[in-house]
Amino acid sequence: MTIHRGTTSEPLVKLLGVTKMYSQPDNYDILVLDDINLTIERGQFVALLGPSGSGKSTLLRIITGLSEPSYGSVLYRGRPVTGPNPHASMVFQSFALYPWLTVQQNVELGLTAKGVPLAARHEKALRLIDLIGLNGYEDAFPKELSGGMRQRVGFARALAVDPELLCMDEPFSALDFLTAENLRSELLDLWVDSKIPLQAILMVTHGIEEAVYMADRIVILSKNPARVAEDLTIALPYPRNRKSPDFVHLVDQVYKIVTDTDEDHKPVSISSPAGSPQKPEESERARLDPIPYGHLSMLSGLLELVSDRGGRDDLYHLGSELLLEVDDLLPVTDTAELFHLARVSEGDLILTEQGKVFAEVDVAERKAIIRKELLDIPLFRLIGRVLESKTNHAMVRDFFIDILEEHFSQDQAERQLMLAINWGRFADLFHYDTDTELLYLAEDQLPEAEATLLGQGQADS
Ligand code: ADP
Ligand code: MG
Repeated sequence: MTIHRGTTSEPLVKLLGVTKMYSQPDNYDILVLDDINLTIERGQFVALLGPSGSGKSTLLRIITGLSEPSYGSVLYRGRPVTGPNPHASMVFQSFALYPWLTVQQNVELGLTAKGVPLAARHEKALRLIDLIGLNGYEDAFPKELSGGMRQRVGFARALAVDPELLCMDEPFSALDFLTAENLRSELLDLWVDSKIPLQAILMVTHGIEEAVYMADRIVILSKNPARVAEDLTIALPYPRNRKSPDFVHLVDQVYKIVTDTDEDHKPVSISSPAGSPQKPEESERARLDPIPYGHLSMLSGLLELVSDRGGRDDLYHLGSELLLEVDDLLPVTDTAELFHLARVSEGDLILTEQGKVFAEVDVAERKAIIRKELLDIPLFRLIGRVLESKTNHAMVRDFFIDILEEHFSQDQAERQLMLAINWGRFADLFHYDTDTELLYLAEDQLPEAEATLLGQGQADS
């Protein structure tokens, strides 16, 4: 990597005790960012990773000067940031293009604002449109473009002003899988080959693989409030191979830190990648294990039956009694095991304590038990994460199909998602509209803070 990115030793960005509180309607302040101290050096591609709602976007807005910290300060090249930083530009998840402006006009926006003369503006915009692979679309309007093309415009617009610091807020998460993957590697090419005069990139993401794929440093935030839980260097050379053992291992390590951070809000340290080898099934990629094709109604019936028999019965016996082949029964018992309701031992199905409770309680309580269990299953966490992070809390099913097809055959991906939708709806985890093919969250399914926020409208101070 041959990059000349500035010569001074002063860090590009320095956060000193950045703290942010939002006041609630009842005057009770919530602490979102707690004493964040962070330095971004020239030449770094930093990924900011953290659970949904942890404060990543808030931090990004503060760094770019779009929002003020409640306490602490942001230094840019040693000087306090007091308003929108002219040396930084932003790429948004939602593209944020002006629908009534053409591609070229959208790209020129920042230049117009800076007072760049017309001819220079045109020249610059056309060069970037070309660089980002959109030549021929100069006069098109955003609505004529696919999501991937719109985000290309978003990148071109952000890069047109020759920013020193490029900030991106989940720039790939609204795109389909392949488009996102293309854009990621194109951006990396630009960065690694120094085709753009950038000094540093800061990318907010909740994709662990994406962070390990792109960044040379990952800062992990904890939640409630956000603190820097971990600051890791990713020393893998570019271009990175997602299938290489080092890559898989790192993803796995980061995954562990993030889940630990998510669960008990405590930072943990990681061993060096050269340390103990990880079981492959623990990597994020392999974590999308297929869910068993168990029908929940059959599951309930089976558990009630076994409960009547004192909490244990012979599977073979159960099968013949229910006129079920083992092939039909096993997905149901697998589901029971997955939900920690029962275990199979020596041909017997044995209810767990939770299984005994499940067999006794009403439907509402059964739903609650299944909901809790689903939240531990990677596929449902993925769905939850995506829906929570989208501003409209909705996503088309094809988006998930695309992801599942990375792990399963096309057929199996369809079946897996259909089943997941069934389970998720049963457990009230999310809704699904068969007409629009949208999975979505209703107000009561949102995390508490966010539901409040939605209710009051999302205006920043
Ligand atoms: P992330 O980008 O990590 O998902 P955000 O920075 O958007 O998180 O939000 C962090 C927390 O701050 C959330 O709990 C959110 O509800 C709250 N929050 C964000 N913006 C506001 C605001 N303008 N007013 C009140 N609370 C807010
Ligand atoms: Mg955000």
